[in-house]
Amino acid sequence: MEDIIAGLPKLAKDKQNENKKFFAKLKKKPPKNLDYLMQDLHAEEFERTDCLECANCCKTTGPLFTNADVERIAKYFRLKPQQFITQYLRVDEENDYVLQQVPCTFLGTDNYCSIYDVRPKACREFPHTDRKKFQQISNLTIKNVAICPAAYNIVEAMKSKLNK
Ligand code: SF4
Ligand code: SF4
Repeated sequence: MEDIIAGLPKLAKDKQNENKKFFAKLKKKPPKNLDYLMQDLHAEEFERTDCLECANCCKTTGPLFTNADVERIAKYFRLKPQQFITQYLRVDEENDYVLQQVPCTFLGTDNYCSIYDVRPKACREFPHTDRKKFQQISNLTIKNVAICPAAYNIVEAMKSKLNK
């Protein structure tokens, strides 16, 4: 897995133009069954890919924290939301709460998340490949394929299914 992760930024860069064209076309005319197709591709990929062998999202990017995330996680630590924010978060350029540092403070050396049951919504949903109207998050996906080997494989599988 380490070799795959190390090679991913270059692979993703090589595919960037192709992916941009593919998603531009997809946005114009998404197939009717796209939501179902994405659910199948997502499920198939995550049968093969074990996030515990990877954790590259937690190591390199980290999530946004919504207010609901902050409240839930602060409660878990028995902190006031503001105390949790001061200890762990900062406000980024887009005015969102994000981690003060990556790798994520809550990631263990065994790649387990120490706040798994209360983790941010963005962590639960990453890499968003089973969400509805997947074509609407193409810019984010084009970035994510450089971080997430599963997202990379899912986009490649999408292209071979839909470009037939
Ligand atoms: S979601 Fe993607 S980047 Fe994150 S651990 Fe799983 S395979 Fe790795
Ligand atoms: S909160 Fe957990 S799942 Fe989310 S980035 Fe940190 S370690 Fe990963």
